[in-house]
Amino acid sequence: MIEDLDSIAEEIRNCKKCPLHKNRKNAVPGEGDKRAEIMLIGEAPGRNEDEQGRPFVGAAGAFLNELLSTAGLSREKVFITNVVKCRPPGNRDPTQEEIDSCSPYLNRQIVVIRPKTIITLGRHSTSYIFRLAGREFRSIMAVRGEFIRANILGLDVCIMPTLHPAASLYNPAMRKFLIEDFSKLKREEGLAGFL
Ligand code: URA
Ligand code: SF4
Repeated sequence: MIEDLDSIAEEIRNCKKCPLHKNRKNAVPGEGDKRAEIMLIGEAPGRNEDEQGRPFVGAAGAFLNELLSTAGLSREKVFITNVVKCRPPGNRDPTQEEIDSCSPYLNRQIVVIRPKTIITLGRHSTSYIFRLAGREFRSIMAVRGEFIRANILGLDVCIMPTLHPAASLYNPAMRKFLIEDFSKLKREEGLAGFL
């Protein structure tokens, strides 16, 4: 049977596989074009996302929208989700156990969407996707803005790691890096159709 994204989302909304379900208002499965060529993967929902059940809707989300438009993209054309689908209390980092419990949902979403390009936002998401690709991850600054061809979950993809928009919001130097990386994305798309 071919899975569909809506039933994965429904499973996520009802999921109690890890302790994060206890404090959530809403799980955040992700949203966007079901046939998106570009998938963006953040870390975990924050307060606003937990309240609305949608990814990147707070201040970091507003910045992400700007970055997408820098690349000539819009939220409707991409699919946006997170490694962990429920908000860690106080926005702490997700634990390895939480990532292990939750990441099968992300894997299933990737397999259904079959993106050509995966943009990983921040080190948690990058380190998770690098592990799937069998690559060693050292630091986000060492790989940000690179286009890395890889095979993950049986799919040939191009991974572009970049910084996390929330971590970069109030840091002009980091903002500049993000804008630079998303501008590159626009050029790569024009040049090579990503792959
Ligand atoms: N930060 C994330 O990593 N994901 C969101 O959905 C919002 C903020
Ligand atoms: Fe389930 Fe993931 Fe939420 Fe944990 S974080 S309860 S594994 S959906």
